[in-house]
Amino acid sequence: MSLLVVGSLGLDTVSTPFDKVEDALGGSATYISLSASYFSAPINLVGIVGSDFPNKYINLMEAHNINLEGLQIIEGGKTFRWSGKYHYDLNVRDTLFTELNVFENFNPVIPERFRKSKFVCLGNIDPVLQMKVLDQMTDSHFTVCDTMNYWIERKKDDLIKLLKKVNVLIINDSEARLLAQEPNLVKSAKAIRNMGPEILIIKKGEHGALLFTHDIVFSAPAYPMEMIYDPTGAGDSFAGGFTGYLHRTQDVSAENLKCAVIYGSAMASFCVEKFSTKGLENLSYLRIQDRFREFMNLSRFNEKE
Ligand code: AMP
Repeated sequence: MSLLVVGSLGLDTVSTPFDKVEDALGGSATYISLSASYFSAPINLVGIVGSDFPNKYINLMEAHNINLEGLQIIEGGKTFRWSGKYHYDLNVRDTLFTELNVFENFNPVIPERFRKSKFVCLGNIDPVLQMKVLDQMTDSHFTVCDTMNYWIERKKDDLIKLLKKVNVLIINDSEARLLAQEPNLVKSAKAIRNMGPEILIIKKGEHGALLFTHDIVFSAPAYPMEMIYDPTGAGDSFAGGFTGYLHRTQDVSAENLKCAVIYGSAMASFCVEKFSTKGLENLSYLRIQDRFREFMNLSRFNEKE
């Protein structure tokens, strides 16, 4: 039983008030797969890069047991590139450019043996492509989907069609407001769940995350971090930890969804401690479990008798 991840792989140029990196490893599928690789193996990745994509990044992913059979490498093509700039408030970022490059003609072909995957994590790419992936799946599966303002603004109708087919949508607070056209988050959550996904997760940057199902609202705390180095990929690392844990435990009950949200938050906290994917490269399951327990202690309290 495998976990299929489809999304972008790219080269990111990122600046924060502390530092700047150029052409660093990035992309939604990259962060999701690296993060999920600590929970389940192998991770089956489907994506596209150009021949300029450095070999060292391929090696890094293979070293994390990420199966790249579904990775298309386009000879002479240019890899997807994205650039972002963060200000002192690291919750706010400006996108400086998005170059789709090989993504413009991407046709996500899911290899035959990945089509039976029981868990699918759709990283942030064009919702039309995300739908093409689901159309190729043969067996019943549990789908977790991410998106971003870029697609909500440009492809809202396609996104709404896709939402009818997914089990979980993960988005951040400003994207939830944009998608629902509603300033209040609880009302936004209701409106978005009515669009299709029975489970909705709204991430609130350094303020934690909210999980909504038909009968629960769960609030996950944020990890109090002294140093956030680079928030890029935090959302995707969250999605990877969340889906990876559900796949590992094969349990999508409400109680286990709460644990998955905490594992997702733990992975996001590791991600932002270093630039690019560096924070996800040398972890162990034990370290992740330690952080999971720190999260539990953050909001555990007892009522006085
Ligand atoms: P996050 O910080 O979790 O939103 O994810 C950032 C990652 O998403 C970066 O590594 C980018 O390469 C990737 N990304 C940014 N814009 C897009 C887009 N329009 N489509 C697909 N991936 C994107």
